[in-house]
Amino acid sequence: MKYVSTRGSIAEQSFEDVLLSGLARDGGLFVPEAWPNVTPDDIRALAPLRYTEIVTRIVRPFIEVELVSDSDLTRIVEQAYSGFRHSEIAPLQQLDEDTWVLELFHGPTLAFKDFALQLLGGLFDHVLGMRGERLTIVGATSGDTGSAAIEACRDRENLDIFMLYPEGRVSEVQRRQMTTVQSANVFNVAMRGTFDDCQDLVKAMFADHALRDSLNLSAVNSINWARVMGQTAYYFAAAAKMGAPDARLSFVVPTGNFGNVYAGYVARQMGLPIEKFIVASNRNDILYRFFDQGDMSITNVEPSLSPSMDIQVSSNFERLMFDLMGRDGAAVTAAMQAFRAEGSLPDAARLSADARSLFLAQRLDDDETLGVIRSVHEDTGMLIDPHTAVAVGAARKTPSDGTRRIVLATAHPAKFPDAVEKATGVRPDLPSHLADLLVRPERAETLDNDFGTVRDYVCAHASARTTS
Ligand SMILES: *Cc1c(COP(=O)(O)O)cnc(C)c1O
Repeated sequence: MKYVSTRGSIAEQSFEDVLLSGLARDGGLFVPEAWPNVTPDDIRALAPLRYTEIVTRIVRPFIEVELVSDSDLTRIVEQAYSGFRHSEIAPLQQLDEDTWVLELFHGPTLAFKDFALQLLGGLFDHVLGMRGERLTIVGATSGDTGSAAIEACRDRENLDIFMLYPEGRVSEVQRRQMTTVQSANVFNVAMRGTFDDCQDLVKAMFADHALRDSLNLSAVNSINWARVMGQTAYYFAAAAKMGAPDARLSFVVPTGNFGNVYAGYVARQMGLPIEKFIVASNRNDILYRFFDQGDMSITNVEPSLSPSMDIQVSSNFERLMFDLMGRDGAAVTAAMQAFRAEGSLPDAARLSADARSLFLAQRLDDDETLGVIRSVHEDTGMLIDPHTAVAVGAARKTPSDGTRRIVLATAHPAKFPDAVEKATGVRPDLPSHLADLLVRPERAETLDNDFGTVRDYVCAHASARTTS
């Protein structure tokens, strides 16, 4: 498989290039040059398979065999999902007559990001081992991605990971999911500053080319193609279990950066018959305005009960735009430049009209979200987290079209206990493997918000230094 950039001005790349570089050098995002084809019989054959066998089949065409052999891929995939706490990995629960919930929160950090990041960590480690290289991963987190990235990188032979978080500004559960990891290659940095300060420090490290080269710096950010690929598999697994290709299905996806719903679009382009995607937003509703009203204008980000969706510019949306614009990289470049300069996407009405045959959108505010958590609990006894609730609410607002709807449950309710308790009066318990989280010893270095201080700390502890 070869990959092209959504901005169209660099040569085709291999999976290896795409995995290690993340963002394309022309500022675009990588996408496969063509979609691998999965036939209706291939889909029927998935139904009896174990989850990991489905992943192996779905991701195989995206990765060169010379880079990852069949037996290595099987081993990497088995290992990626070995830490999940449910035997089915991604179980389905029926919610009402035409709605099912796909539970994507049984991974080590209780959110769906584990699906992609656990696989990404294994692929990184394998490819670096083949190249005889080490990598230093640096990241900034306001809470959620940090722990998933740390769990994906801990104890890997060829990686070190440094995670910067704003001291005193992440929840105790989120902090402890990072700081209680005792692996020698994990470094938590509590910054005396805000999340934006953390992000600026990470950007400054990448901008220092000497540092970047000597430490072989990398990121595990949400635009890496391998993350999208790792998420595509659960659309196939869930659809096959629900009777695809012989059943009419749609997916409802709580959306922030558009990575999760785009992975579903990839499954559909590969041949999985999905009739509709319902894109669910909270009060940060730029995607709702695009799909529903044909307008894509940036407004301020407002905090909500579903913080992982508090985003205005959804980075993965550019991948869909590339297809909506006929894979014309020059047109995407011009549109993205205008969007950044003017805060509004030119031609949004026309693009939206084309997209609407496949994508519907809904938005929920915090009160509606709490109402959904409450009513689901009253009707079924099930506790759902606020992100999942936005999606269940979006499904309920969308008139029935005769399809069976699969709602993606992206976080465990115990990750957002305050909202769940406020809605239901019940405080969800952490699963047993995390029950002692609040008493485990923590490990973090507290540093001043100063580039030199952070750089020296990373240099002193990273083992990737090629110059030493
Ligand atoms: C990251 C995240 C989302 C948003 O997913 P995108 O791929 O960014 O659209 C939704 N819910 C939870 C719990 C998340 O962590």
